[in-house]
Amino acid sequence: MTSYFRPSVDAIAGYVPGEQPKPGTPIIKLNTNENPYPPSPAAMEVLRTLDSEWLRRYPDPFANEFRQAASDALGVPADWMIVGNGSDDLLNVIIRTCAELGRKVVYPTPTYVLYQTLTEVQVAEPVEVPYGDDYALPIEELVAADGAVTLIATPNSPSGHSVSIANLRELAARLSGVLVIDEAYVDFADQTALPLVKEFNNVIITRTLSKGYSLAGLRLGFGIANPTLLSGLFKVKDSYNIDAIACAIGAAAMRDQSYKNRCAERVKSSRSTLFSALKNLGFGLWESQANFLLTQPPTGNAEQRYLALKEKGILVRYFNRSGLSDKLRITIGTDEQNQQLVETLMHLV
Ligand SMILES: *Cc1c(COP(=O)(O)O)cnc(C)c1O
Repeated sequence: MTSYFRPSVDAIAGYVPGEQPKPGTPIIKLNTNENPYPPSPAAMEVLRTLDSEWLRRYPDPFANEFRQAASDALGVPADWMIVGNGSDDLLNVIIRTCAELGRKVVYPTPTYVLYQTLTEVQVAEPVEVPYGDDYALPIEELVAADGAVTLIATPNSPSGHSVSIANLRELAARLSGVLVIDEAYVDFADQTALPLVKEFNNVIITRTLSKGYSLAGLRLGFGIANPTLLSGLFKVKDSYNIDAIACAIGAAAMRDQSYKNRCAERVKSSRSTLFSALKNLGFGLWESQANFLLTQPPTGNAEQRYLALKEKGILVRYFNRSGLSDKLRITIGTDEQNQQLVETLMHLV
């Protein structure tokens, strides 16, 4: 059969997101790293008091209300920020702006699989450099690969580890292309690479409201870089990529840092409780700076365990990929949800 698509589109597998059961399905959902707590009450209040004028008119192309709130929260000037329809949108805009046929997009693996998909859609060449033992950053190989774009998720998914600021600084200094530091999970970590955007012209940090701010359904993310680097991205992004409601709700969530921080503290405390409980069950584990744990079940195969948990109403993430097929990634839920997971695992043989 003839295809209507570009050969490069026919050739790619396409990104497969984690399962999203219908809202209301009685399931413990620990597969896509959502925050188990609700969004800030201040954000919900904005939603309740929505003005119809926001919907009648086109939104602000720069999402300035949100940029101002993020600027106040982070101490970075508003014109050093670009806002996206989720940080996935910004990753796509960065790759579309910098990569094309004949250019390389480089990242250490295992990591966020979307990087590969976005690169392939752009007909650029993905260069995957495996992490070393214990997720040591392969700096020499990353530099040698000479990407137009190099992407580092830190904390990384699915491993949960953070890359040191010293390593990121060295990479930024030695790369001739753009270095994207994907901080989707920074709200659960004890470090940020934010100071590097002031030190290096080629560094952009991406963040999201999906994880730390409990707003995955809203679709809001932002990038931080010097205005010269952002100027190219502004040419490529859709003019109205941020809807008016997302901008206003996101701004309210951003102004409520103390709520976000309280939720993150609870998640971090649950993370160490779950870590110990799984360790006691004989699971292999990696220290995590994110809101999930990468685990290696003690016996039997990880896929079977994923399916057995699903049967019992608990969803975790299984990746049928090299280096991951014996592991499960488990999102940190509430203490009650985590406890139920542990009890269920205890009774599975
Ligand atoms: C979740 C995630 C994102 C994207 O989140 P959005 O919902 O698109 O903002 C980006 N990078 C990594 C590593 C993630 O895990």
